[in-house]
Amino acid sequence: MHRRLLAAAGMALAGLALSASPPPEAPAVPKAEIGAWGIDLTGMDQTVKPGDDFYNYVNGNWDKQAVIPPDRSSIGSFQQLQILSEQRMRIIVADLEAKPYRRLSREERKLRDFYDAFVDVKQIEARGLVPAYADLLRIAQLKDHADVARLMGSPKLAAGSIFGLGIGVDDKNSNAYVVQLSAAGLGMPDRDYYLLDNKEIAATREAYKTYLTTMLTLVGERNPQERAAKVFALETEIAKLHWTRADRRDRDKTYNPMSYAEVKALAPEFAWDAFFSDTGIPLKGGARQMIVGEKSAFPALAKLFASTPVDVWRDYLAIHYLHSYADCLPKAFDDADFAFYGTVIGGRSEKFERETRAVRMIDREMGEALGKLYVARYFPPVAKARAQELVANLLKAYAQDIRSLPWMSDATKEKALEKVRLFTPRLGYPDKWRDYSALEIRRNDLIGNVQRSALFEWNRNLRRIDGPVDKSEWDMTPSTVNAYYSRSFNSITFPAAILQPPFFDPNADDAVNYGGIGVVIGHEISHGFDDQGSKYDGAGNMRSWWTDEDRTKFEKNTAMLAAQYDTYEPLPGEHIRGRQTLGENIADFAGLTIALKAYHISLGGKPAPVLDGFTGDQRVFLSLAQVWRTKYREGELRNRILTDVHSPGPFRVRGMTRNVDEWYRAFDVKPGDKYYLPPEQRVRLW
Ligand SMILES: [Zn+2]
Repeated sequence: MHRRLLAAAGMALAGLALSASPPPEAPAVPKAEIGAWGIDLTGMDQTVKPGDDFYNYVNGNWDKQAVIPPDRSSIGSFQQLQILSEQRMRIIVADLEAKPYRRLSREERKLRDFYDAFVDVKQIEARGLVPAYADLLRIAQLKDHADVARLMGSPKLAAGSIFGLGIGVDDKNSNAYVVQLSAAGLGMPDRDYYLLDNKEIAATREAYKTYLTTMLTLVGERNPQERAAKVFALETEIAKLHWTRADRRDRDKTYNPMSYAEVKALAPEFAWDAFFSDTGIPLKGGARQMIVGEKSAFPALAKLFASTPVDVWRDYLAIHYLHSYADCLPKAFDDADFAFYGTVIGGRSEKFERETRAVRMIDREMGEALGKLYVARYFPPVAKARAQELVANLLKAYAQDIRSLPWMSDATKEKALEKVRLFTPRLGYPDKWRDYSALEIRRNDLIGNVQRSALFEWNRNLRRIDGPVDKSEWDMTPSTVNAYYSRSFNSITFPAAILQPPFFDPNADDAVNYGGIGVVIGHEISHGFDDQGSKYDGAGNMRSWWTDEDRTKFEKNTAMLAAQYDTYEPLPGEHIRGRQTLGENIADFAGLTIALKAYHISLGGKPAPVLDGFTGDQRVFLSLAQVWRTKYREGELRNRILTDVHSPGPFRVRGMTRNVDEWYRAFDVKPGDKYYLPPEQRVRLW
């Protein structure tokens, strides 16, 4: 996300506010940041009937006026917070730059040096390919398939590989780490980009071939076009072997425990020993346990590996390497990379400003060092306390809901309640910050910094591979505008950057907070009970705890939800994929149901106030729709339909509301309205 936006960013956020005029009196009453009580009423289009298109009813006027900045692929509530977060990280770095170097802590020096190395485009330009020379030479000198596999496994290079390698928590033993292997190796975002037969995707493929040719040309290779065609053909063969996204998120299908010796026997044509040789993983004479993801794809990928000549692998690896490091290389590489990934795939016409890219990079590589400074400045303790209260209410509502479910047996209910009791909410930032003292950062060695960061992270995982699991660890940095549920930790995590308007505002109306962050909290909790999360127990282990009968009823209901989403068509001819997005759609629907329930509990039996003519329930729904307001560029929207497990924002709003009875009552939605569903076709889960 880029630069010029910074000034605009603050405005964009403030621009959500109804009015800038000061309150006439009683200045002691704090005013919500957006509108008078939390909703941008000017963004609504009240000529639209709520039952015909609830998204446009709430966001129609906003949608008509919102302009996607040239360097973004979408704009909306999330993106505006993202821009704000980048702006804040830049302010933090500007402060580090303003202080005398000697007055900075060692960690602050690393942040500043990393940042400076990235924004020093003069030096990057002047040095050309020299910083990448040793790596490129190593690729050019690969002699045989074992060499190729060894490079694919290099944790330092992190370039291309047909097999992905990681160390993570074991799905069936949340107290142990395990080696994880998956199918990988594509340059475009998904197999569908190689295989789908439609005009836009075919054009993307042509652009990708041009990109491959350009990269080979830029490093001075001969016959670049012909060689690019071979790389493209190779990736197309890899794509044919990849599983669909829907299958890849099925935890039963992707959990295949095997010993290292068994992995080798499964896919003998791959040079596994060479692949692991630089990783440092103790293989225990073949006994090391590994979890294989897309198991059925492994033998064929290994065969493809062996039957592809080494010179094609060299070109493939060189291109993947250049893509990984494009932003650290001279402008010609960076531009070529952006022309494909930024413009063709993402629909963006401008890169982010260099400074914004720099803070995004240090957020990625040293996010907890930067995050420490971020929360000290932008996350007041009061925000944490209020958010904690909300989370507690949502969990209470969830437990109450489970007890009242007509379709679930008592035996399953007991286990579900236990899982709710064992939830760990985490807000703002981790209790324990990551220690970066072993990471070396140099002001004049950008690629080296990126590689040392990758190695630092790898070694951190490697060191503890046979040790206890660190459950205090976060997978998102505090400045991230997002939230997540961890199945293995049974925890829900909300970084500081999402705990602000329009999601959460201590000065806004309660209904608005329940419809905003409340729905997000409910969404994350319910990932513990979505089609995949429900396969894990309260201790974070994949283990069936449902009675067969309950599981069948649950799956029948979720199949209904998948079928509903299959009918939505964000782009002509491109439908949402109900199964690929099922977990997220379940979480959306459940999050809304539970947030409403929690809001009702919070009223303590008193009637909700009416504000500007809107009832309490209405305001919960307005807030939910405001949070998901999003406008996408076409390429980005297509990319999301093909690759994202979330439905596009407008369809999240339309899809979740029509299954909730309270929505029909709140907005008097009737048969004949476009999104009306007869009661028997509404999904009943929570
Ligand atoms: Zn989710």
